[in-house]
Amino acid sequence: MRDYIITIDQGTTSTRAILFDKKGHKICSKQLEFKQIMPKSGWVLHNPEEIFLTVKEVINQVLNEKNLTSEDIDSIGITNQRETTVVFDKRGHAIYPAIVWQSRQTIDICERLEKKGYKELIHEKTGLLINPYFSATKIMWILENVPGAREHANRGELLCGTIDTYLLYRLTEGRSFKTDVTNASRTMIYNIHDLKWDDDLLDICDIPKKMLAEVCDSSCDFGYTTLFGNEIRICSMIGDQQASLFGHTAFSKGDTKITYGTGSFMLMNTGNEKIISQKGLLTTIAWKYGNNICYALEGSVFVAGSAIQWLRDGIKIINKSSETYDMATRVEDSLGVYFVPAFVGLGTPYWDSECRGAIFGLSRGTTREHIARATLEGVCYQVSDVINCMKEESNTPIGITSTDGGASSNDYLLQFEADITRLTLVRPRELETTALGACYLAGLYTGFFESIDDIKKFHELDKMFLPEISENKAKKLLNGWNIAVNATRMFKVNDNEFEDEKNGEY
Ligand code: ADP
Repeated sequence: MRDYIITIDQGTTSTRAILFDKKGHKICSKQLEFKQIMPKSGWVLHNPEEIFLTVKEVINQVLNEKNLTSEDIDSIGITNQRETTVVFDKRGHAIYPAIVWQSRQTIDICERLEKKGYKELIHEKTGLLINPYFSATKIMWILENVPGAREHANRGELLCGTIDTYLLYRLTEGRSFKTDVTNASRTMIYNIHDLKWDDDLLDICDIPKKMLAEVCDSSCDFGYTTLFGNEIRICSMIGDQQASLFGHTAFSKGDTKITYGTGSFMLMNTGNEKIISQKGLLTTIAWKYGNNICYALEGSVFVAGSAIQWLRDGIKIINKSSETYDMATRVEDSLGVYFVPAFVGLGTPYWDSECRGAIFGLSRGTTREHIARATLEGVCYQVSDVINCMKEESNTPIGITSTDGGASSNDYLLQFEADITRLTLVRPRELETTALGACYLAGLYTGFFESIDDIKKFHELDKMFLPEISENKAKKLLNGWNIAVNATRMFKVNDNEFEDEKNGEY
């Protein structure tokens, strides 16, 4: 009986396999971390072979723990860290480590593209900004810097892809060379209007088309693996943030989700409308399955949970992240303290990589509690800036907004967010929304789940947060934040070492 789906959640620091049953309940989950390779400041690489081995290992662990065989598995879904890129030969051997989304090693290539005046064209065709995050300049870097790569690529001997593609190729032992639209939409060479690799952009980037995978729906027949016994079908592939949106059952236009992890990511479902932002939001494909293509607007905050980690590991005023809840609620307010956690600059809508974090409003009365509270609030204010952009540019009222990520377990944080954004926020009972998204998409393809309506019934709420403070009070608080951000951005130190540091971790 094929009673289960396994989701592979291949993240930036770890790989997980999660087993779900027919009700979308998590039955078992296994996780393995792998090495972060940082050979130079700002460079982040992964060993693709090691990633593949962790995938095999966590799947085997799940099967063993639950005493299951391949016969018990309906299908596999894959969700993955986005943009991270591998160039490999036809045997599946990578010719260079995977260049991770965070890696800044292609800054020079980005500057070259900007100088040649391709910014508008790229933005128009892909919905993205020229930035080292996206895959195209990573492929270019490998072709330009790995000896022999260009010649092999021109001869059709090399393939490239995001992690989904690489894992699929390895799991199917070279039978399937495919990606899905969401992963393709983060490469900077995929035309989100025509739904094709874009010939003009491939020319500009000098990337041979034959290196690229076939682009499929996020939910389809991607092939099968026999590495765990008999055949198991692989029936979904989707980038992690989009998977989380799907996992939140954010199926209607205007549905929005906020992930409060290390950084914070907001995605709003914009239906079949592609909104090209003028304020630094990205336009991306949310998913495609059946005849449904759905787009999303995306905004990012670089430092969210990592500001709380800094309280723990940096200035050591807490032992555990969860203590911030007690500390924040022990005081009546932040006593006028504002913390702008711009450790690596500010993301949407400022896209200011030069500024650094700052704390304002310190007085003799400031305590650890006020700092902890101001830190949680600083995360919320940044998210509120993104929400405001989304409100302005989407022309769609933001409905009930779902949350996930480690820091979403903090009730104070979600309450304050609801207060200042005036939104209704909900936290679902199952916080594994990313893995759930990939599971749902695989199960919808195979018939494991009947329909979207079926899936919606699985989505149970843990808690809802409604605005509690007055609108006037919210405005005053936001006014203080705006002053703090402006002051932060005025303080710029021109120092190369400092510059290098910004390329570090997110
Ligand atoms: P990622 O997937 O990006 O690694 P997670 O979703 O696992 O991140 O979230 C981890 C982050 O959440 C950490 O930065 C941690 O400091 C923060 N976090 C976890 N629990 C809490 C809490 N109760 N209050 C505030 N922040 C928290």
